[in-house]
Amino acid sequence: MPDTPALQSSLHAELAAQLDQLATDGLTRRRRTLDSCCQPLAVVDGRELISFCSNDYLGLASDAGLIEAACAGARRWGVGSGASHLVSGHLLPHQALEERLAEFTGFPRALLFSTGYMANLGIVAALAGRGDAVFADKLNHASLIDAVRLSGAESRRYAHGDLVALERLLAASSARRKLILTDAVFSMDGDLAPLPGLLELAERFDAWLLVDDAHGFGVLGAQGRGSLAHFDLPSSERIVYMGTLGKAAGGSGAFVAGSQTLIEWLLQRARTYIFTTASSPLMACALLASLDLIEAGDARREHLRQLTGRLHAGLAATRWRLLASSTAIQPVMIGDNHETLAVADALYERGLWVAAIRPPTVPKGSARLRISLTAAHSFEQVDKLVAALRELA
Ligand SMILES: *Cc1c(COP(=O)(O)O)cnc(C)c1O
Repeated sequence: MPDTPALQSSLHAELAAQLDQLATDGLTRRRRTLDSCCQPLAVVDGRELISFCSNDYLGLASDAGLIEAACAGARRWGVGSGASHLVSGHLLPHQALEERLAEFTGFPRALLFSTGYMANLGIVAALAGRGDAVFADKLNHASLIDAVRLSGAESRRYAHGDLVALERLLAASSARRKLILTDAVFSMDGDLAPLPGLLELAERFDAWLLVDDAHGFGVLGAQGRGSLAHFDLPSSERIVYMGTLGKAAGGSGAFVAGSQTLIEWLLQRARTYIFTTASSPLMACALLASLDLIEAGDARREHLRQLTGRLHAGLAATRWRLLASSTAIQPVMIGDNHETLAVADALYERGLWVAAIRPPTVPKGSARLRISLTAAHSFEQVDKLVAALRELA
């Protein structure tokens, strides 16, 4: 419905002009409404599309076992938690999930958050403030960038994955407390942070190391235990491990794992933990079932690896530039916003749904297609995408 003339004040005219500018720059975002659950075959406007957009890496979001666990959970525990964790919203399934997550990731204790975005805001602001310094990879997720702003700590950003640059910044800092922040798997590039080197620097300069494993948890490492397991890192008291539950785990929410003292501090001090309603207990029930499937999910992870290899082989020696990623996130670098949109639209016409990622999600001039593969895709579906991209090249 159009706004009434009375609403077309100068405030609205200003927004309208800015919206026009977004369109001119090829930056307008469009959402589509799905008439299907999260799975490779999506139904949009009555059309079936093969979707390569979701972060449901293990294909668990609409798994029958998780649905059953959620239904049973709702019957036993109801739908809402009714309050924040520290008031009366912390139910037995939440507690069981925290204990299971701590055990699964190998840390003394874990704490649930309602979303990964909120976890990052809460953790960083609870650990760093005025007089402290935060050292962040330039390609970190928006939630980590916002977290630094919220904390009020001094922000130092280092070139993507550049340990030498980080070492220089750490050596030059006289901040009271230091905190290094990194995505473990970079969400729009699919490459891995140099975690062993980062941990070594954290030890040497007495800093905390926050590892955001949104895209590694469930996918990487033995039994899907995540990026730290992938690198076989020794457990360290200075690691703050954040994992999300809305991607490979197929549900929603997030957790942070670490030492007893760290977790107790976050429970007492992280404002995005304290001042929000606890997630639904039925979600905790579904996630407990999800952890069993993740742990026993080697076949899913192996299939995902094979799909990734197949995509790479299919697009090698074409004009498409795949980034050096070995994970399920496979970006095709294009650069120009309009061209990226045009390619995504052409794929969509052919029944293939791939996200066109543009600034500010990625740096200016680095618009790309972000192909994301899941264990629920078939070889045939990936072959169709490869064939369409070869044709469009
Ligand atoms: C998705 C994502 C988040 C946010 O997690 P939500 O649970 O979706 O809020 C945080 N960090 C990274 C790297 C992500 O990709």
